[in-house]
Amino acid sequence: MRRRRMKHVTQTPCSRSRHARWLWLLILAAGASSGCPEREQGVSEAEDRWNVLLITLDTTRRERLGCYGCPRATSPNLDALAAEGYRFDNAIAQAAVTPVSHASILTGLNPPGHGARVLYAERGYRVSDSVPTMATLLAERGWHTAAYLSSFTVAELFGLDRGFAVYDSGCRDTRADQIRSDSHGVFGWDMTVNQRRSDATTDQAIAWLEQKANRPFAMWVHYWDPHDTTELPPPEYLARFRPTGPTKEDRLSATYDAELAFVDANLGRLLEFLRTSGLYDRTLIVVVADHGEGLVSGLAHHGWWRHRLLYQEQIRVPLIVRVPGSPEGGVIGATVRTIDILPTVLDYLGVTGTGEFDGASLRGLIAGRSEAPRLAYADALNGYDLTAGMVRVRPHDRILHSVSDQDWKLIYRPDQPAGSELYDLRQDPHELNNLYAPSHPQVERLLAELRRVSGFVDDARLFGGGSGQADVIKRLGSLGYAGVSETGTNGPPP
Ligand SMILES: [Zn+2]
Repeated sequence: MRRRRMKHVTQTPCSRSRHARWLWLLILAAGASSGCPEREQGVSEAEDRWNVLLITLDTTRRERLGCYGCPRATSPNLDALAAEGYRFDNAIAQAAVTPVSHASILTGLNPPGHGARVLYAERGYRVSDSVPTMATLLAERGWHTAAYLSSFTVAELFGLDRGFAVYDSGCRDTRADQIRSDSHGVFGWDMTVNQRRSDATTDQAIAWLEQKANRPFAMWVHYWDPHDTTELPPPEYLARFRPTGPTKEDRLSATYDAELAFVDANLGRLLEFLRTSGLYDRTLIVVVADHGEGLVSGLAHHGWWRHRLLYQEQIRVPLIVRVPGSPEGGVIGATVRTIDILPTVLDYLGVTGTGEFDGASLRGLIAGRSEAPRLAYADALNGYDLTAGMVRVRPHDRILHSVSDQDWKLIYRPDQPAGSELYDLRQDPHELNNLYAPSHPQVERLLAELRRVSGFVDDARLFGGGSGQADVIKRLGSLGYAGVSETGTNGPPP
């Protein structure tokens, strides 16, 4: 399988205090080599390192956040962070299903590179044990690592836990911490014991920080609330966001905003702890969504409430980077990818020698330098995913690959190329006018890029199922399976 990787070029940042100390060392030891030393050289040096806080917002549609234009007060704390950090206006996730997208965030690799391709199959749902992650790379270099998460979809099963000294997935019943098949071959899990509300997750994260406040840490916090209505926010949040109409969709849309607001309140509580404990000014903070959400059913727009598709409402995500000591924030319009997050974090921390990533540091863009345009890749291999009951109602979305730049986007269906889609994002940002034709020069250009990155999967046996797996997919349909979580139906969740 071919894939293109961009060389990870690091620039080693040195804090003023480290510069001062090494200046003294240079004076005292004539002939010492120049440049910044390795960071993992002792406790006192470790204490000068920046911390990292990665916050992932599950199922968060960018347009529902104040800093991305929402007129409702869904995200005052995130808006404040965005105002003092860097807000990326065109950040593209590499998948629209939770563990796959998180794997790209944590590894800096497109899905073909890290091994997690689907939510669940007999194979192909775990990050490869040989792939370094943000946690493994930083733990090896002395950062204290912890993850406080909020759902089964990022549990240990998916291989995202490597490198974390503490990995709390938020699943209250660990016995249920497995996807299971019922007697009909339907795969799923019990959502009532396999998710955690954002207040409980935040409590645990703050409790850990209270213990580790004097050490360099790398923490991942994941919030899940907007994904479904199993865990509702407190009544005062529901009361603040009233339905704008009489339909079920109106009610669910209002609940979605209330859940976002509750996540934002807890995100604010976490940031406030960093401020009051003196950690804020030495913590690099990244906030990103793993994917968006359609939030439209029926025939309007793309007619899809949930994720698993590759339209902009599913993969164009909020991304905010707050850099300690940065004098002022800004808005960056260039196309970037969630695979760029890990190279960016390592760049700011001065971590080198980590190998190559598909992504590349955002530090140059943040510094205002012009760069060559980045191409964003994403895929959705729903047809090989035993939890993707949505292929029953959207068989044409069985296998999706997309590649986009600032101006053009191709959604390619390798099993039915004539059904592919091409959009001029400048003229048609909502992807309503499909310009696909095999001979269109933009199709030829983008398809060549897609082939370079992807290598299309056309064999179910790669996922362990062969024809048996296809039978399970058929049974999902014949049973009218409309499972919770990632499966989706042609309408809002129950
Ligand atoms: Zn998700």
